[in-house]
Amino acid sequence: MKVEFFLPNITTDDKKSVLKVLDSGFLSTWNTVKRFEDDLAKYLRAEYAVGTMSCTAALHLCLLTVGVGRGDEVITTPLSFVATANAIELAGAKPVFVDVEKDTGIIDVSKIEKAITKKTKAIIPVHLYGHMCDMKALSKLAKRFKLPIIEDSAHAIEAERDGIKPGELSYAACFSFHSLKNITSGEGGAIVVHDEELARRLKILRLHGLVRTASDQYKKVYRHNEMECLGWKYNMNEIQAALLVSQLKRIDKQWGKRHQLVANYDKGFRNNPAIATMKTLSGTKHAHHLYTILVPSDQRDELLQEFQQRGIGVAINYTTIPLMKYYREKYGYKMGDFPVAEYIGSRTITLPFYPRLTKKEQDYVIKVVNELVKV
Ligand SMILES: *Cc1c(COP(=O)(O)O)cnc(C)c1O
Repeated sequence: MKVEFFLPNITTDDKKSVLKVLDSGFLSTWNTVKRFEDDLAKYLRAEYAVGTMSCTAALHLCLLTVGVGRGDEVITTPLSFVATANAIELAGAKPVFVDVEKDTGIIDVSKIEKAITKKTKAIIPVHLYGHMCDMKALSKLAKRFKLPIIEDSAHAIEAERDGIKPGELSYAACFSFHSLKNITSGEGGAIVVHDEELARRLKILRLHGLVRTASDQYKKVYRHNEMECLGWKYNMNEIQAALLVSQLKRIDKQWGKRHQLVANYDKGFRNNPAIATMKTLSGTKHAHHLYTILVPSDQRDELLQEFQQRGIGVAINYTTIPLMKYYREKYGYKMGDFPVAEYIGSRTITLPFYPRLTKKEQDYVIKVVNELVKV
């Protein structure tokens, strides 16, 4: 049996939505992007959304609007995709890592205060695997130090904690629509904010610093454009937006399917003493982005190969960022600096997990994993 690690769920409606755009004559940033931004803001109970090329671009732009640059520090987690820390490097600042909680893998909010210095300019928490950080506690701390929070919500579009959604208690929340994410446009991202002026600045920064978009110029009487500042080329296009508008309509239905898959996996591994699973804290709606298990660290890498030999696609989310060559060499990080993140990073395996995964496939994965992972 072959079980793919991931398969996107693109329906006939999604394809129709794209074809409509392809026939419309407008392919760059236009009405469909605006429509997606409105729909996303509504879904997240937010005021404004700004579509971008990626979540990395979204994080980068947010840091620029805060004024983060050379000599500054930004606090984040060591257990994430490299993009989180890379965005800080792109802005010219230094990522300062704070270790994570063992049960969930998310940044340990109680350890953040000790990492704050005079150079700290922002905090980027990651809602890892779809489990939200304690945004109430974090925003209290951030207010005390007058630090903006930029949420890396790449995993967490459907998440809630204590009734709070991503973006509700922060300066901005950034989302990813990369092909492995919960809804996807192949590549894509968005930023959600409350402040109108901030939304305007982000829209200017995502397109060269130009004040007027092509659609403004086309729809209204022609006016010469003005470049207000040096911006980037990070705008979302109509094809991406068409895919996302269509998927956003069934986002909760897809979440429901993944919720059921989690229950099946949890039940399947419950009686295996060699496997630990991540916890969902009370008061939390998990977005269920990835399903990971922890196995004995001395068996982990061998298990990856064995799973693959049995036809099961697997991945590692994540090897800790500070132990990546670039960060090791630039900042001198070594094993032992972030023990909890390393504990998870050396034991974790991500299993196939997506709405199209069938019961038969999942049962096969559970059977093989239980056969191969032993104390
Ligand atoms: C995927 C991901 C990103 C980057 O998203 P892109 O859209 O590919 O730039 C950032 N942070 C986390 C936690 C991710 O998983």
